[in-house]
Amino acid sequence: MVEQKEQLYEGKAKKVFATSDPDLLIVDYKDDATAFNGLKKGTIVGKGVVNNRMSNYLMQMLEKQGIETHYVDELSERRTLVKNVKIVPLEVIMRNIVAGSLSKRTGLEEGAVPAMPVLELYYKSDELGDPMINEDHALAFGWATREELDSIASMARKINGILKEFFAGVGVDLVDFKLEFGRYKGHIILADEISPDTCRFWDSKTKTKLDKDRFRRDMGDAEGAYHEMMRRLGLKE
Ligand code: UDP
Repeated sequence: MVEQKEQLYEGKAKKVFATSDPDLLIVDYKDDATAFNGLKKGTIVGKGVVNNRMSNYLMQMLEKQGIETHYVDELSERRTLVKNVKIVPLEVIMRNIVAGSLSKRTGLEEGAVPAMPVLELYYKSDELGDPMINEDHALAFGWATREELDSIASMARKINGILKEFFAGVGVDLVDFKLEFGRYKGHIILADEISPDTCRFWDSKTKTKLDKDRFRRDMGDAEGAYHEMMRRLGLKE
């Protein structure tokens, strides 16, 4: 049995604990919600449970399709045992439909469909507000190697294909999402979470938003949106 040890870190949405095994960590999901790089703060009751369960479900699905992830074992409704990775300081965003910052940057309307999925890289830095970068920046400043960038891009595109098809099957458009990757025993694996905090989900028919945009944009009933996504996936809370 792996034992939980001292807290190593408390982030905006999760706490991370050491364990008796140096290769493993425990993440503990909170209900705290933040947006706009921490400027807006609040609570979405039950969010930690939803994000923990949904992320674990999706990571297990990806594992079955050949994507290595940090997921090891769900310990409780909010706590999961994960592999202890060194996070690559990049946020990888995959976009299938124009929304959010892409709409602002390009003037394209939310809902426009690009001719192909768009992959973007951002440098993970709260101080700088996660600026958008390109592969040259990542290589030139030593944030990732050529091989790592190639693995990250091919994994991100494969993950997008799997998730887009899966969500379409439950009546949800996967608009865009953020991934983080980690170094583990010499290779790149998927880390962090996949949840309504990190994805945009729109009901395929009504285009109702079923994700954190309800909190970011003060649309109301963020809790209801998170619960509805669990219902679509057939998951208990
Ligand atoms: N995203 C995230 N964390 C971030 C930034 C973005 O999880 O720090 C997710 C966000 O939920 C959305 C996608 O990445 O699904 C694209 O976000 P966008 O660049 O449009 O930024 P936003 O409009 O949310 O500022």
